[in-house]
Amino acid sequence: MNIPSAPRRPLTVLLAAPRGSCAGVERAIAIVEEALRRYGPPVYVRHEIVHNRYVVDRLKRQGAVFVDELDAVPDGRPVVFSAHGVAETVRQEAGRRRLPVVDATCPLVAKVHRAVDRHVRAGRPVVLIGHDGHAEVVGTLGQAPPGAVHLVESPADVDRLTLPADRTIAYATQTTLAVEETAAVVTRLQQRFPLLTGPARDDICYATSNRQAAVKAIAPRVDLLLVVGAPNSSNSNRLVEVARTTGAGDARLIERAHDLPWDRLETIASLGLTAGASAPELLVQEVLDALRLRFTLDVRTVRLAEETQSFRLPRFPPLFAAPDQAAE
Ligand code: SF4
Repeated sequence: MNIPSAPRRPLTVLLAAPRGSCAGVERAIAIVEEALRRYGPPVYVRHEIVHNRYVVDRLKRQGAVFVDELDAVPDGRPVVFSAHGVAETVRQEAGRRRLPVVDATCPLVAKVHRAVDRHVRAGRPVVLIGHDGHAEVVGTLGQAPPGAVHLVESPADVDRLTLPADRTIAYATQTTLAVEETAAVVTRLQQRFPLLTGPARDDICYATSNRQAAVKAIAPRVDLLLVVGAPNSSNSNRLVEVARTTGAGDARLIERAHDLPWDRLETIASLGLTAGASAPELLVQEVLDALRLRFTLDVRTVRLAEETQSFRLPRFPPLFAAPDQAAE
């Protein structure tokens, strides 16, 4: 790491809590590690297990092979589905090929999948609030036949829907959205579709909302807020947006300590620091260690919630499992 040499000066750091890895991410990583232990390498993983390059590279070194689609998985080798979930067609393809599947879909994403499936089976059109192209959204849309789920991102998208106002319309949301923006879209849905049904508020998970709440508490008190996370991490990008809209003088996403904006840091007295739900705590500590080389830090943790959530690992099928045993 190339740290510029300069006299150390004081810098206050407000450290958000909770921050970083959530229960779904920790479970997904543990699943790949356990699959490597049980089956031996290579273990194939469809898509990035979580959106974090450090985690993916570490698992690669242990023998995980990340692939875009199942046709890159040799017959008989185990494949792990990522925390973001998969479309039904992917599950069916794995079953048809009798691939041993270990499903690392976060249980909170799987809950949304079940709700969408339930609504579609009941004949209700479903509106999904989410970001087009995100892995989780692709998986959730894929729980229903093409055309059964309508994707919207904004109130303006809701206005463009051509669904009948006198029918029961269901909705679901991506789990990693910004809380306030999503509430605005749900409000617009309620206005347009009086018979709207869905979750009590939204499907945004505890980890996403806790991390946003912690950022909101810190943002008005800092000159710059840094989010440790990957550019393709939805919840990390939302943290940057939340910081910008709730009073941080400046907010940026960094992947590692080597991305620290040293010139900008020289101009500030207070820094906010958090991490997206797919970023390990080790990367936050790496950032703090790098800052200590340059500044005398006064680190104050601002805790908004205690998190005790954990998820059990799924069943690991034997190699060459029958299709109906292959996935949970
Ligand atoms: S961010 Fe939420 S939904 Fe996504 S893996 Fe973590 S706990 Fe699960």
